[in-house]
Amino acid sequence: MAEKYIVVCGAGGFIGGHLVSDLLRQNRGPVRAVDVKPMGEWFQRFNGAENICLDLGRREDCVEAVRGAGEVYNLAADMGGMGFIENNKALCMLSVLINTHLLLASRNAGVERYFYASSACVYNAEKQRDANVTPLREADAYPAMPEDGYGWEKLFSERMCRHFREDFGFATRIARFHNVYGPFGTWEGGREKAPAAICRKVIHSVFTNNRRIEIWGDGNQTRSFMYVDDCLEGIARITASDIVEPLNLGSSELVSINQLVDIVEEIAGIRLERHYDLSAPKGVAGRNSDNTLIQQHLGWEPSTRLRDGLERTYAWIYDRYRAKYGTRTASGLKSAG
Ligand code: NAD
Repeated sequence: MAEKYIVVCGAGGFIGGHLVSDLLRQNRGPVRAVDVKPMGEWFQRFNGAENICLDLGRREDCVEAVRGAGEVYNLAADMGGMGFIENNKALCMLSVLINTHLLLASRNAGVERYFYASSACVYNAEKQRDANVTPLREADAYPAMPEDGYGWEKLFSERMCRHFREDFGFATRIARFHNVYGPFGTWEGGREKAPAAICRKVIHSVFTNNRRIEIWGDGNQTRSFMYVDDCLEGIARITASDIVEPLNLGSSELVSINQLVDIVEEIAGIRLERHYDLSAPKGVAGRNSDNTLIQQHLGWEPSTRLRDGLERTYAWIYDRYRAKYGTRTASGLKSAG
């Protein structure tokens, strides 16, 4: 019998692209990579995978995507950083079509395991009003008051996975990602998240000699950031485990946005004049991942130091920036070395 496919949905995106790469490297079986974006826009594309453009918001496309599949990873969603999710709530909520149709199609196709990428945005906003946060435990998602739009969709889709498991015996696994960053992600255009945005702004200063940086909010809001390699390791461990309840998948190294800027400045070897845009979208005051449960169940948690992951991310964005804008900012190129 033909080997079953491992299907990565959202494979043209940041985490999906890394997941395809990781699966191919492990040689675990045939990999199918699916995304709605034209292939030229995928962040990473591999000849070793079967690459298909499909709109997973449509049920018939989901049926095609999971044909012959043994495992399905749903990382497809319309999403971005705070600037995107605060201003595109309907678009974010429409991702409910993706997970719903994918669940239906996967169950009908006899898929053996289904992974869903949820988010820390499911957590109750009341628990995130202070920058001196108590890390969020999985139970803190209820009573429900998630991030409007994006967070509601994630919470609803989590429950959909849960009920497919309870009612149909369909094996679903769920991780709540906390801010993932790394190379091959969005770094400009409005969907980028804080680590990539700060790297890009600092790199822009390096190239143009403009020593001013604009920071969204007052810079005191706190977050934790998980390097993409830890995210991949966590996805593999959670999918293979017997843990059916959603698990936090995030770093517990808490920093303020100001500290994030400090680290990137240090990597770049410059100091910048900070200007705070208090009217810009900034999200909750503070958020961190409580990793007690994942430690208890899997004996593991993300551990890449922020400084180490940022160095790799900075280097990658630096190269992209230089390739795209280097010649246009010739006066600044000298200082960019
Ligand atoms: P991304 O935007 O880089 O990737 C998502 C991909 O899904 C995109 O390539 C997009 O084209 C694709 N997609 C959107 N609509 C689609 C459709 N109808 N059919 C097929 N493909 C479609 O995002 P990412 O950072 O790689 O995130 C992956 C998953 O992890 C998402 O579900 C996201 O909500 C979740 N998540 C990410 C983070 C993070 O910090 N990156 C945090 C929490 C949760």
